Amino acid sequence: MATSTGDRYEMIIGGREVPAARGDRTPLTDPATGAPVASVALGSRDDAAAAMEAAERAFRESNWAADDGARRAKALAKLAALLEAQADAIARLETRNMGKPLRESKGDLSYVVRSLEYVSGLADKVEGETIPVPGARFDYTVREPLGVTVHIAPWNYPLLLSVRSLAPALAAGNAVVLKPASLTPLSAIAFARLARDAGIPDGILNVVVGPGREVGEALVEDPRCASVTFTGSTDVGRRIAELAAQRFVPATMELGGKGPVIVFPDADLDRVARGIGFGIFGNAGQMCWAASRLIVHESLRAPLLERVRAVAEGLKLGPGLEEGVDMGPLVSAEHREKVLGYVEDARSSGGTVVTGGGPARGPKLDAGHFVQPTVLADVPPSSRAVREEIFGPVLSVSSFADTEEAIRAANDTPYGLLAALWTRDLGTAHSVARRLEAGMVVVNEAPLSFPQTPFGGFKGSGVGFEQGTRSLEPYTRRKNVSVNLGAPKKK
Ligand code: NDP
Repeated sequence: MATSTGDRYEMIIGGREVPAARGDRTPLTDPATGAPVASVALGSRDDAAAAMEAAERAFRESNWAADDGARRAKALAKLAALLEAQADAIARLETRNMGKPLRESKGDLSYVVRSLEYVSGLADKVEGETIPVPGARFDYTVREPLGVTVHIAPWNYPLLLSVRSLAPALAAGNAVVLKPASLTPLSAIAFARLARDAGIPDGILNVVVGPGREVGEALVEDPRCASVTFTGSTDVGRRIAELAAQRFVPATMELGGKGPVIVFPDADLDRVARGIGFGIFGNAGQMCWAASRLIVHESLRAPLLERVRAVAEGLKLGPGLEEGVDMGPLVSAEHREKVLGYVEDARSSGGTVVTGGGPARGPKLDAGHFVQPTVLADVPPSSRAVREEIFGPVLSVSSFADTEEAIRAANDTPYGLLAALWTRDLGTAHSVARRLEAGMVVVNEAPLSFPQTPFGGFKGSGVGFEQGTRSLEPYTRRKNVSVNLGAPKKK
């Protein structure tokens, strides 16, 4: 894999690396330094159609779906091994393209390898049922792959969130078309280059690059699209769900969040402060499950704020490839403006900036899109900074007097992805976890997930779940077969 400055990346369609039909390309730069990273093909509707065509042909003509799942299991396990062998190089590429510290990119790559291994173990377990029915009949169900599945991914975990959905779709026997975010397509292309050597037939794994509004919509509208899995913002998710609904195409939506962290009076404050630090400053806060609203018992407010401030001020900012860096830049200048706009909004609506609140400056920071780790207090609950997803390293803090008030505040959001709570009391932990309107709850933990645990949100955070033993289900359809056994033959 080439990774030097000025590399060219093409799309992967039908097993070949192809430039855009119109010949368009776009340069990508390192968000930490502004240095050129690569030039990538920039596709259009024509390229979307070509990818769908290639996928549909491969689904029809290769034995990917027809073979028993053991072949797919082997191929996915091999893909995991090939990826693992290149994990360091692809992690570096991810960091240069997206900005996160190398340590985090390496963690993402390990997660992807583990996910592929996990999913490979499910590929030969797509089973049906037999159903007792009256009379001389035999009734059973089979689960079939859908055909061509479309996967649209965001830029914050570029490879991880691409593979999270396409791996189970492949395991179930589908042909997939992935559209990564235009800002961060490189790791997905590097990954797809490994498909042939893993034994995946040409055309079963395609990557098409281009603006979501054109290429993404073309993929979803294509008559060959049998399902769409979208990971991204709630507004775009709504648009894609509408398009999918017009053709009754099943859609899995993994959308935004505004995660609450409730801290009860018996919590271990040092652990809480570290957990909060990871939950909002990890990946520079560009996380759907970011723990962005701290709701702390009033008795702990002052000491916890001091600890969280110390965590924020102790973080080392810098280019992600540098040793010891804790937090990289935001992905783009435009995104930094958006994040700082929320801080301004919080200030003007009467909030206090406890720490941070502006662009981060310094010799190694001035060329990049860095933002100071920021903690806001006393921001009115109705302000945009508290209600909307900021998607940056910005924590807002409020306090509560009793448990009912804490639960009300935690649930007072249009989102419902991940909620965290900190307490040593078992009864409080389980009873509050039940009442939180979130698809995932962590107790005495920073946000975390494993390939074997379901991942998904309630309310405006999405529909459907990924990961876990049932992760292949959305990529299969169930067929019932009833067989009349006839009257037994007379001897
Ligand atoms: P966007 O919604 O802007 O984009 C996500 C993807 O959708 C990109 O590939 C984008 O393409 C594409 N896209 C944009 N517009 C359309 C359209 N009209 N039709 C089809 N595709 C389109 O999100 P971001 O990339 O900015 O990612 C951040 C968001 O993702 C946050 O809201 C975050 O919470 C959410 N997210 C959710 C996760 C979850 O699991 N629940 C995980 C991670 C992030 P392009 O950019 O090339 O135009």
